[in-house]
Amino acid sequence: LPPGQFPAGANQVTIEGDDAHHLIRVMRSEVGDKVICSNGVDREAVVRITVLDKHEVTAEVVEELALTAEPSVQVWVAQSLPKGDKMETVIQKGTEIGAARFLPFLSERTVVQYDAKKEAKRTDRWQKIAKEAAEQAHRNRVPQVDSVLSWKQLLSLAQEADAAWICYEKEDGQQLKPAIQAAAAEGKLAPGSRVLLAVGPEGGFTEQEIKQAEEAGFRSVSLGARILRTETAALVGLTCLFYETGE
Ligand code: SAM
Repeated sequence: LPPGQFPAGANQVTIEGDDAHHLIRVMRSEVGDKVICSNGVDREAVVRITVLDKHEVTAEVVEELALTAEPSVQVWVAQSLPKGDKMETVIQKGTEIGAARFLPFLSERTVVQYDAKKEAKRTDRWQKIAKEAAEQAHRNRVPQVDSVLSWKQLLSLAQEADAAWICYEKEDGQQLKPAIQAAAAEGKLAPGSRVLLAVGPEGGFTEQEIKQAEEAGFRSVSLGARILRTETAALVGLTCLFYETGE
């Protein structure tokens, strides 16, 4: 639910829209049934349905739940806009693994046609995918999906992160694992810290882009000797990171 609809302290909740439809029509819920409600930010609780209307469900809180499913490190996945429905795969699987935010961006070799008119609709669909994946993974928070960023906007984000890595298959000096371990030793992966992980498009990043990214504060990292598909790379990066942090 939107945070304002289920704020901390409220002992009753009104569920509307798609979520109400899901409870009434899909789950065929009845008064007395218990469901878990989350505001996607800082509250999750078991609630019992007290009133079922045609389009609205009212429920009372019976038990607060600890927010245990969230990683302590926030990982922002920046993905150069891939072809077809690959972005959906990255968002769905990345949410299950634990990403906190998805930032699609344009880079020199982005091949997909970017249509600003279709943009809002597409971002809404991606946000919905993140919500559904977060629910199925029993996460407490729904990752945010940003609208498509320019290359320049992506570069400026490095300054907002405690660690910013750009995945580059030609990198032979730095593997992700030691980069993670070094960041942890420097206190950059402490609870609440932000990590930015950037992945290139099907055709990869240009040398020039890697240079610009490093100047902006990114560190170029390799994910190993094998070339991964663009939609695999972010998922591998996320998995390595949470493996190393134990989350
Ligand atoms: N066109 C490139 C080639 O054929 O060598 C491959 C690009 S790869 C399909 C797409 C993106 O995934 C890259 O831009 C990079 O960000 C990431 N990636 C794939 N394999 C990687 C690896 N072994 N190490 C680091 N990044 C990798």
